[in-house]
Amino acid sequence: MTADTYNCPICAEPINEGDLCLMDVDEGDCHARCLEGAPFVDLDIGDPLPDDAPKPEPYPWRGE
Ligand SMILES: [Zn+2]
Repeated sequence: MTADTYNCPICAEPINEGDLCLMDVDEGDCHARCLEGAPFVDLDIGDPLPDDAPKPEPYPWRGE
C-alpha cells in the first residue's frame, strides 16, 4: 500500500477520489456503500445514534 492509496477496511478495495465515504467508529473511513445497512453510531462514544438524531452525510473522498 502506498501513501496515496487507501483501501476500504470493509471490502479491501481502494477508495478512489470522489467515492462517497463514511467514517466507521471501528474501522475509520469506509465506502458509504459498504456501511449501508449498518447502524450509525456516535463517533465520540461508540453508542448507536437515536432514531431522531441527524445522520452523518457521506463525503467525497479526497485522497487523504
Ligand atoms: Zn468498501
